[in-house]
Amino acid sequence: MAARLRFKVVDEAFKRGPVYVDLPKERPSEYFGKYVFNKQKMYKYLPAKVYKKMCDVMENGAPFDRTIADAVAEGIKQWAIENGVTHYTHWFQPLTEGTAQKHDGFVEHDWKGGMVEEFEGKLLVQQEPDASSFPSGGIRSTFEARGYSAWDPTSPVFIIGDTLMIPTIFISYTGEALDYKVPLKKALYAVDKAATAVAQYFDPEVTKVISNLGWEQEYFLVDEALFAARPDLVMTGRTLMGHDSAKNQQMDDHYFGSIPARVEEFMKDIEIQALELGIPCKTRHNEVAPNQFELAPIFEETNLAVDHNMLMMSIMKRVARKHGFRCLLHEKPFKGVNGSGKHNNWSLSTDTGVLLHAPGKTPMDNLRFVTFTVETLKAVYDHNGLLKASIMSATNAHRLGANEAPPAIISSFLGKTVTDLLEHVEKADEDALNVAGKTAFHLDVPSIPELLIDNTDRNRTSPFAFTGNRFEFRAVGSEANCASAMLTLNAAVAEALIDFKTRVDALIEKGEAKEAAILKVVREDIKYIKPIIFNGNGYGDEWKEEAAKRGLDCETAAPLIFDNYLKESSVKMFEKTHVMTKFELEARNEIKWETYTKKIQIESRIFGDLCLNHIIPVVTKYQSMLIDNVHKVQGIFAAEKARKISKENLYIIEKISDHETFIIENVDKMIEARKVANKVESEREKAIAYYSTVAPLLEEIRYHVDKLETIVDDEAWPLPKYRELLFIR
Ligand code: ADP
Ligand code: MG
Repeated sequence: MAARLRFKVVDEAFKRGPVYVDLPKERPSEYFGKYVFNKQKMYKYLPAKVYKKMCDVMENGAPFDRTIADAVAEGIKQWAIENGVTHYTHWFQPLTEGTAQKHDGFVEHDWKGGMVEEFEGKLLVQQEPDASSFPSGGIRSTFEARGYSAWDPTSPVFIIGDTLMIPTIFISYTGEALDYKVPLKKALYAVDKAATAVAQYFDPEVTKVISNLGWEQEYFLVDEALFAARPDLVMTGRTLMGHDSAKNQQMDDHYFGSIPARVEEFMKDIEIQALELGIPCKTRHNEVAPNQFELAPIFEETNLAVDHNMLMMSIMKRVARKHGFRCLLHEKPFKGVNGSGKHNNWSLSTDTGVLLHAPGKTPMDNLRFVTFTVETLKAVYDHNGLLKASIMSATNAHRLGANEAPPAIISSFLGKTVTDLLEHVEKADEDALNVAGKTAFHLDVPSIPELLIDNTDRNRTSPFAFTGNRFEFRAVGSEANCASAMLTLNAAVAEALIDFKTRVDALIEKGEAKEAAILKVVREDIKYIKPIIFNGNGYGDEWKEEAAKRGLDCETAAPLIFDNYLKESSVKMFEKTHVMTKFELEARNEIKWETYTKKIQIESRIFGDLCLNHIIPVVTKYQSMLIDNVHKVQGIFAAEKARKISKENLYIIEKISDHETFIIENVDKMIEARKVANKVESEREKAIAYYSTVAPLLEEIRYHVDKLETIVDDEAWPLPKYRELLFIR
């Protein structure tokens, strides 16, 4: 019965053709931002004075003046209604990794028996959603369920379908952050202030430093019918069982290969919708694993880029269904082929250019480049364990250290050019650098050929690689909210820069020339950061040993990696930069441990169910058929001959028994382990119990299920197999 369903869905999947998408009549540059209340629309729909104030808020971070809220809301309403919008919602990013929204209509009584469309400033600016069902880590007990969402005017409102979406922050009644946006914005503020102060050593005209993020979103597509026939995919986003397909990625024929027609239409569709929502999509291609793809926009200011990534993920999931697909954002949907990540390309730029770019025109430019590079590395070194925690999750744990993605040790690849440059700065003769007379200061920092920098050798195994004019943080998971990694990185860099400036100023105070003071501190730091630089193969076992010797964080257990948030150095850094308090960090960790536990718990439950109710019955039936055959053979042949004829069947019967016994016994053991773990009070200890007693059994039992898949009659196997799931026609 079950197998018949499998053949039916495979048939359905193979027959499904492309859903063709009509290309818009206008060019992408013309429909870009069509559904965003951007500056152009503000200019058109807002009074001139209000428009000017909004520009000041968006561009210069001026505080949003509530007196203009009504006028802004009125302009937005007019634009929205012209676009057929009837509802509005505050759109926020609670600590569940997704986004949340609650829709309200514009309509109000007109008190004459009819209705009018209304949208006042106060509705735009603030809402009070019942927050009791969002994770808060104990900050807000349920009887005090109030939480506030407040508009983030630096991320413009946009339209999806009939709804006006208003990006907001989400905080508790007592002011603690309940989302990712609040600490992210604080970190961006901190890095702006700290980096501007340092950038002014080199160019006094600098007034603002912007943090940029360019994310590259990897994902899998699976036919909808096949997806529906895999309860594990439906419930957990990954396959908990499934034997390797004979062919997977070993031929390297998928990467950058031609894109299947069905997928191409899907890509076109999401790109058009993304461009209309102001997401500057640029790149699309196949990835390494079969059915794996990537999408990348042009980089943007980090807060906006994070919002755009959250939005993009929801567009992808929604549009996939129109094309008969399910979009899998899980970091490891299939064992044995690559998982999905989301490289976070990060840089700092001023109103005058990218700070991490090495133009090599003047020595001072190069010293600026060296300063920002070295201080970034110092941040990464000082907080390497914390940065790992910022990208860790139950799902990303499958990817890290699994010989395909960044290892579970944070280090940085610089490439030869930059490594040589740092060495030169470190070793250069003190006198050569510091010629007598302050103004005649001669800076022996060699220029860097532009071409070399742009062609930095690629080291795919490094979790934090310098790639020309930016760092690429490659350990971020495909499903994650980039804000987690970005707020940590930006806050850590802010701390390093604050500290840098304090030390340089102290030397200047003592009479040292500015350039000499900078150089002195930079040279100190080049020596200090050496352990974080690693240009070799991050997948090798030698690196694990070497990294441990260097004192880098080598922990691989997710629940223990989360401890990094509460380390003294982390709390100090977050408090110094005013990004998060110790109280908030503690609350957030409760959520991290709880989420980890719940994910493994759900996986374990659905896996047990699949084993006992889907696999074992089918396998037993097949085994009975073989036993029946053995009996019948005995009926028609003499004993000796019958035994010879049934030799293979007897062997298979026994094998099946062995695997079955293991599975049944260990599913029981797994249930017991859950019961024990569930009784543990502390969220941390509970997560550790799930990590060490439940999660390993999933893997051990799976081995036997996958073996059975290769033994049992294909006609009887109930779940779509890897070879069926992974190849879109
Ligand atoms: P690759 O896969 O080779 O790493 P992609 O072209 O897929 O490169 O993606 C590179 C990403 O890096 C894009 O989002 C791009 O806009 C972004 N990027 C380029 N320069 C910078 C920069 N200075 N700061 C931040 N992001 C950048
Ligand atoms: Mg990349």
